[in-house]
Amino acid sequence: MQGNPIFMEKAIALATENVTSGRGGPFGAVIVRDGEIVATGANLVTATNDPTAHGEIVAIRNACAALGDFQLTGCHIYTSCEPCPMCLAAIYWARCDAIFYGSCAADAAAAGFDDAFLYEELKRPINQRKIPTVNLMRERAISSFNAWRAQAGRIDY
Ligand SMILES: [Zn+2]
Repeated sequence: MQGNPIFMEKAIALATENVTSGRGGPFGAVIVRDGEIVATGANLVTATNDPTAHGEIVAIRNACAALGDFQLTGCHIYTSCEPCPMCLAAIYWARCDAIFYGSCAADAAAAGFDDAFLYEELKRPINQRKIPTVNLMRERAISSFNAWRAQAGRIDY
């Protein structure tokens, strides 16, 4: 699959402009459908006090709002840097059809944005992760799934 350099140029420009404008980190993303830009995003973590406001997440939110849909089937995401595990998962949840990335995780790490520890955490058993992660009230919590299964008007996703 081939990416369109025009859209990657845009993602990179968004990343650089985000830095030079003082808004945030050097990350930008563009979401494209049928050769047209649906939405863009840039890192807004510090600007909005939102640790999840990575460029890709912001672009996904903007694209979903623009399309009035919770899925981005048929869309391609161009991101100035290889997605971190959170963004990668979000891209999968959004059902994008392809990911084009500019710089690599190693390039981000060299600039002080190291997400390698997250990939390591994901491989560890739950009880060996850095943040204590404890199962509590499983049987009680399952009642929410029972409610979901019984909900006639649910929107499956
Ligand atoms: Zn991310």
